[in-house]
Amino acid sequence: MEKPRFLTSNDLEQIKIEFGTPSFVYDEKTLKENARSVLAFPHEFGFFARYAMKAAPTAAILRIFNMAGIGIDASSVHEVDRAIRSGYGTESISLSSQELSEEIKYFVHDGVKVNLCSLNQIHRFGTWLPNQRVGLRFNPGMGSGGTNRTNVGGPASSFGIWKEDLEEAKRLCGEYGLKVERIHTHIGSGSDPEVWKKVASMSLDIVRRFPNVQSLNLGGGYKVARMPDENATNLQEIGEPVKNLFIDFAKETGRKLKLEIEPGTFLLAHACSLVTHVQDITSTGKDGYRFLKLNAGMTEILRPSLYGAQHPIFIIPEAGQEKFRNQCPQVVVGHCCESGDLLTPASGDPEALAPRNLLRGEVGDFCVIEGTGAYCSSMSAKNYNSFPEAAEILKKEDGSLSFIRKRQTFDQLIENEVVP
Ligand SMILES: *Cc1c(COP(=O)(O)O)cnc(C)c1O
Repeated sequence: MEKPRFLTSNDLEQIKIEFGTPSFVYDEKTLKENARSVLAFPHEFGFFARYAMKAAPTAAILRIFNMAGIGIDASSVHEVDRAIRSGYGTESISLSSQELSEEIKYFVHDGVKVNLCSLNQIHRFGTWLPNQRVGLRFNPGMGSGGTNRTNVGGPASSFGIWKEDLEEAKRLCGEYGLKVERIHTHIGSGSDPEVWKKVASMSLDIVRRFPNVQSLNLGGGYKVARMPDENATNLQEIGEPVKNLFIDFAKETGRKLKLEIEPGTFLLAHACSLVTHVQDITSTGKDGYRFLKLNAGMTEILRPSLYGAQHPIFIIPEAGQEKFRNQCPQVVVGHCCESGDLLTPASGDPEALAPRNLLRGEVGDFCVIEGTGAYCSSMSAKNYNSFPEAAEILKKEDGSLSFIRKRQTFDQLIENEVVP
């Protein structure tokens, strides 16, 4: 029988008594191991890794990466603020945002780097801060996301300046005296070295047309295997051909480009498990389903409802009970009054129920959902049905557990309401 990755039965008992459920539990050891793998990414002429903090932006997590020497990829001015608040220096932060607010000019003045992501952003930024050094994010024309919703390159994606607008982007930068020194591409979740090689090569073609560019940022999108049938990314395997392309580029142009990458999923996904309880069970008869209802759901983890994403699920009964239970197909659902609140959809099809063979669950059992480090706590239907935001806990390297974000209180949930 498979066991949870890093949670022991003692941890679960302690969580139940001291912290309550649902709680996200992050594992410091895994976070540090992942940071080391990222820092070992092959490169030739200088390298900097950034954590795409939208994956999980809690200060305690940012601090672990800060201490490991990893910088920040922020996706809004608020994330820039949050990174600084956690202790990051402005010089370690780069912003690539879908919504560029004017406040960013103060941060740029203070050392934060910006990748402009549309022609309109160049225009607005140039008006605020002419003659600045900037980066440009391009959509190189292809993507490799697992689903349409995780694909962030190609003609169906709005992210970045479309490759055919390159000359217009250059002209606009010239108009405002903006000096383009960084090129950025980020095309979505992929694990295929051939795809990365192709994107790196397309990105280098863009760099070729900007003679003052000194660094190329290839974004994130290094897919992890949450389920046994999924392909994990091997960073060494992906990085070697990319490194060789940088070497060839230097031979051809004399330009030694620095490489940047900004993983989110890769650093976080396996480093967190969501600990919940089975709080009810219903059945729809012999042609129907056995539903396990958790005390959590889309309020904590939206990925299955959104993409049909698959996460490992463990039913863990009280100690000693396990041997009396068999496995059977069950559908795991959340606690919201919403039929889309489903944790076992068919892969890639959020609307289809896919009963999973799990230990026969009973009310009061723990249910641990793994692979929940990235885009779960940070991207949920928070407060739907007025459920409070779950707690976040760190399992430190010495095995002890501490809150890194307390459970939201009822007062916090309604604190901004005004009855006129
Ligand atoms: C979200 C994002 C990332 C991280 O993507 P992952 O798939 O989590 O690795 C990196 N760069 C940018 C610009 C992003 O928007």
